[in-house]
Amino acid sequence: MRSNHYAGGRLDRAHWRRRDEAWLKERLAHPGSAVLPLWQGRPLIQGAEAPAPALIAAAELSASLMEGDWALLGVVGEQAVFALDLPAGDPEPDLSRWGSFTELRQVGPILAREDAALLAYARGLILWHQRHRFCGACGAATRSAEAGHQRRCADEGCGLSHFPRTDPAVIMLVTCGEKALLGRQKEWPPGMHSTLAGFVEPGESLEEAVAREVMEEVGVAVEEIRYHSSQPWPFPASIMLGFTARARSEALRIDPGEIESAAWFTRDELRAAPEDERLRLPRRDSIAYRLVRDWIEEDGG
Ligand SMILES: [Zn+2]
Repeated sequence: MRSNHYAGGRLDRAHWRRRDEAWLKERLAHPGSAVLPLWQGRPLIQGAEAPAPALIAAAELSASLMEGDWALLGVVGEQAVFALDLPAGDPEPDLSRWGSFTELRQVGPILAREDAALLAYARGLILWHQRHRFCGACGAATRSAEAGHQRRCADEGCGLSHFPRTDPAVIMLVTCGEKALLGRQKEWPPGMHSTLAGFVEPGESLEEAVAREVMEEVGVAVEEIRYHSSQPWPFPASIMLGFTARARSEALRIDPGEIESAAWFTRDELRAAPEDERLRLPRRDSIAYRLVRDWIEEDGG
């Protein structure tokens, strides 16, 4: 099955290298190693027409820049690939020779699949470092460990290890007969509609989360909840778990605290979406779009 955008990278994560201090030290200084700098969560991107990650040889970056938190993303053949979190304060580090710091959301849909996967991985991991500088148990500072795949509490009495977080969220295409349910939130661009979604809560299965979210948002009971596919979504730290579900009835009871509106659409209506303030489909790089597209194509495209 074809993977979703932001997944399917070919990088070998080489987890066995994460504790190999000698190898890491050598690779960080190796001219053939590649470093992807990020500043304030924004990766360095080269090329405007066909954007791609700006990978720089570690030796070309100044020692002071290399003092930021770094993480081993993995290896491609013999080449080690690192992500580097540059100091967040102003001014923006001048790396304009190689590219510009760009929001992944902005270029995501037009990236090559492999590049999108690499950038989603790097952004997710680096944002986790930025937001976990202190131990949630004792409040002491934490330090990066395991080549950037853990943070350890610096307090000797605590010493807790913290692991990168990926928050599970369910996202579901609900259908009833020949119609599919899409909703919209008021802060979205005019006309944009998407599938319902929400975070999984503690003590809940994914199927229960699907049923609860649909009931909360639109007051509809669902059955035949089936897994579809998943997508890393580092905005900031989610994994989207895609499902399909069948509604027991079409009647909606919308919770205005959750969504602005929701409605049932036929395949023809979605195929003919004018992509303006009347009806816009979800972003092309999202699993929401894939869920809608796959449902339309079930009926022959
Ligand atoms: Zn601690």
